[in-house]
Amino acid sequence: PVALAGRSYDVTIESGALEDFAGYARACLGGFDKSGRAVPFVADRNTHRLYSDTVERSLSKAGFRADWFVVEPGEAAKSWPVLEKLTDWLLDLGVTRSDHVFALGGGVVGDLTGFACAITKRGCGFVQIPTTLLAQVDSSVGGKTAINTRAGKNLIGAFHQPSAVLIDPLVLGTLPDREMRAGYAEVIKYGLLGDAEFFGWLEANGTDVLAREPEALSHAIATSIKAKARIVAEDERETTGVRALLNLGHTFGHALEAETGFSDRLLHGEAVAAGMVLAARYSARRDDLSLSDAERAARAIAHAGLPSEISTLALNASGRELADHMRHDKKMEGDTLPFLLLKNIGEAYLARDVDLADIAAFLDEQL
Ligand code: ADP
Ligand code: ZN
Repeated sequence: PVALAGRSYDVTIESGALEDFAGYARACLGGFDKSGRAVPFVADRNTHRLYSDTVERSLSKAGFRADWFVVEPGEAAKSWPVLEKLTDWLLDLGVTRSDHVFALGGGVVGDLTGFACAITKRGCGFVQIPTTLLAQVDSSVGGKTAINTRAGKNLIGAFHQPSAVLIDPLVLGTLPDREMRAGYAEVIKYGLLGDAEFFGWLEANGTDVLAREPEALSHAIATSIKAKARIVAEDERETTGVRALLNLGHTFGHALEAETGFSDRLLHGEAVAAGMVLAARYSARRDDLSLSDAERAARAIAHAGLPSEISTLALNASGRELADHMRHDKKMEGDTLPFLLLKNIGEAYLARDVDLADIAAFLDEQL
């Protein structure tokens, strides 16, 4: 097992961990104190169908059972109405601050459950059991929780760190390939932004990671989480700018997501993949990065089956229209937007002099 002592909680990565869920919970949390009571679990219909039996089997061996709150798969579950039902359910169960609620699912279940736990009894414990690659390498660690509202995604939320994160790479065996690739975009991100050696390793072993080859997969997850934990530990609440490194590819990516209406046409990870290629090429255009390194980044992304050319996305937009989506970014400072760019493969930096008109002209060349 790879146990990382994060700021205040352990991240366990072990194949098959879910089979012995009760054992891990006892090790991480010192067991469930309220004997006889059910352990609260939140899942979506897919993760419930696939993995609730495994969890129940392990719990019943330890003399416990689970109580399930099951949401529909998809972003729509990150909403006020579902949040209200979930918090009512937790209160009906009599959850106290020292209890732990278990989130079994992807980023949607993790974000919703985390936020519900941040506000229930002014903060009760929760444990992330992420079941998508994206959630395993990114959203389950770091403590950001949120729901979506009519004004946009993730605008209502809280920083609420989990008590523990339990990652079982085996559950990725049932994850659809497209979701797997989308999560892999965030893995590549850690290489590009801060670890050239890891990027090189991914160029050589990315196919094995995507094929869920156990050793390669565990290494990719552990390296990604260590990178994320290091960055988050330096800047937990996004105040010093260090945490902004994690946004590599995301400013371009969000514009692409906004243009495609945050729909299944372009998953978050796919948008980030295309966005990282844009960030690399824009860096090369400014002579911050060599053209050959920009194309090396593009090749790694294309090789993973992720979109590297926005000309293939059939967008009906001009560069100006895409740049306009960025104007609403909460980080806008006058006409400039702080932008994550690359100096090298493995070296990202925050540029504060990027003009959106120049971004629009650049995007017109790429479209
Ligand atoms: P993300 O983690 O990318 O934010 P979601 O929480 O929206 O993603 O999950 C993406 C989709 O994958 C959902 O339909 C969810 O039900 C499904 N899913 C999550 N984990 C698994 C898994 N291990 N096996 C199969 N499907 C899964
Ligand atoms: Zn992301």
